[in-house]
Amino acid sequence: MAPTVYLVSGANRGIGLGIVTALAMRPDVVVFAGTRNPATSSDLSALETKYPDKVHTVKLNSADRADIDAAIAEIKRVVGKLDVIIANAGIAKYFGGIADMPLDEIREHFEVNVVGPTVLFQSAWPLLKASSKPEFVVISSAAGSIAAGAALPVGFFAYGVSKAGVNYLAMKLHSEHPELVVVDIHPGPVQTDMGSFAQSQNPGLAGAVKFISVEESVTGIMKLVDYAKRDAEGPKMIGYDGFVFPW
Ligand code: NDP
Repeated sequence: MAPTVYLVSGANRGIGLGIVTALAMRPDVVVFAGTRNPATSSDLSALETKYPDKVHTVKLNSADRADIDAAIAEIKRVVGKLDVIIANAGIAKYFGGIADMPLDEIREHFEVNVVGPTVLFQSAWPLLKASSKPEFVVISSAAGSIAAGAALPVGFFAYGVSKAGVNYLAMKLHSEHPELVVVDIHPGPVQTDMGSFAQSQNPGLAGAVKFISVEESVTGIMKLVDYAKRDAEGPKMIGYDGFVFPW
């Protein structure tokens, strides 16, 4: 049986590293782990050493078309196919509200959180569509839900509006590509660098929300990725625990 081939962006730490670690332990997989700086991604290097036939690090800076094209060319050269893309790389750097939000913050969040997954799809599609079950997974956020995220009286504006944008991308990909399975996931409030930063910016958050481990989030994410099917109505934003968020 040919292995299932995955590409995961933002794989050097946090949820992305957790996904690559979980995949590496499976039989019959090849995982390409995207990182901005392979030379300093020591956890990925260790996984590559431990699983040399299964884990390959590729340089991948979110919205850099040349980087992504080179990574896709490498995947084509090494295994000749691609089955699942997990667009996980993301930033949440500024938690202010709209009135005092520097516009460059909004631009940067869009560049990484929306343009990044879009370019990844554009570059990978010719290879991905040759798969018998091409799957594109967006790691989004409940903060991008207009009904839930935008209703919160706290900041998150640059982040939330960019995640609302990537949710639109998920639905649009489903509409434009009838052969593609699109999955849109809220990974939960997770103990990562991003999760810690969110808590430091919103002291009330830690008490109000239970932050889960990377392992718990990844277990839920992989269930959704593994059992995903194309739904005629299009993807929904689903939490790691199966909760369906309103768009
Ligand atoms: P982390 O901050 O821990 O990790 C973010 C990852 O994205 C890193 O690997 C980072 O690489 C990468 N990244 C950032 N900018 C770029 C870029 N320009 N190009 C390529 N890679 C980049 O975040 P999490 O693991 O917590 O988040 C992963 C995803 O989950 C994100 O999309 C996030 O929005 C989403 N999410 C997380 C939640 C949480 O509570 N943690 C809640 C809801 C959603 P580098 O090390 O080089 O910076």
